[in-house]
Amino acid sequence: MIPFHPMRVGKRKITGICPLCLQEAELRNSHIVPLGFFAEVRQQGTPTFASAKRGASWQMQGGMHEHMLCPTCERLLGDEYDRYAIDILRNGRAGVVVHSREEGFILAGVDVNRLKLFVLSVFWRAHHAKKVPLENVDIGEKAELDIRNFLLSGSAPARNSYPIFGAALINPHSNEIEREFMTGVIRHKRPDDENLRTFLVVFGGVAWYALLGEDGGKDENVHLFLDSPDFFIPAVNILEFEPFRTAWPSVLMGIKRLERKKHRMPGAAQKPPLRK
Ligand SMILES: [Zn+2]
Repeated sequence: MIPFHPMRVGKRKITGICPLCLQEAELRNSHIVPLGFFAEVRQQGTPTFASAKRGASWQMQGGMHEHMLCPTCERLLGDEYDRYAIDILRNGRAGVVVHSREEGFILAGVDVNRLKLFVLSVFWRAHHAKKVPLENVDIGEKAELDIRNFLLSGSAPARNSYPIFGAALINPHSNEIEREFMTGVIRHKRPDDENLRTFLVVFGGVAWYALLGEDGGKDENVHLFLDSPDFFIPAVNILEFEPFRTAWPSVLMGIKRLERKKHRMPGAAQKPPLRK
């Protein structure tokens, strides 16, 4: 009799050390930025991913992902942070108040602790990513350890410690937030930032910054957020967003291409209903 061997088709099991709980386990194919942020864009086509290193952009169906977290930690980040961030940022559940399209948006009633842990977790995941284009992201040993502890304890540090802020990228042609583009993670150079390294990533139409250090309260930009009772996201004209000019010029070319395409296809700008 021929013994029956179950075959594994397609899916390879990958084991390794999970960087969050430090246990050896089967690793999940973890997204660096949750896929939910691209649901809307994916309905209309594929999101465009810009790489600083290659100076190019390309279409990316599934976003950046790789085998990283054990099932328990994957669930922890997904349930505690990713789902919440998608709910308030994409689905607008926090009650987004449009301050004015020129000035920006206020996320009223947002759980800043959770939002902050989510944004920090994206940079932390990028640090542990080994695949192109994130293989060189290094947030530093101390920040890695601190953020790991924040994520496991579920509590973010005080507002001026490891502060985050975001800028909504407005496409002046449509006067809407431009969600088409995502980027890798770069170190955003600022004067005297050795003790407070600043990192930047763009997804879901927002450029997110994190100042990785304990004394972020001295920064002028951060005060804009620390002094506000809710979470304020200023609006920035995407064509004038400085990092796109310097690090990701391909995004600006992509926007021009997008506009030409929309002009060629009348009605193409109409969005189909968003699948939940
Ligand atoms: Zn784990």
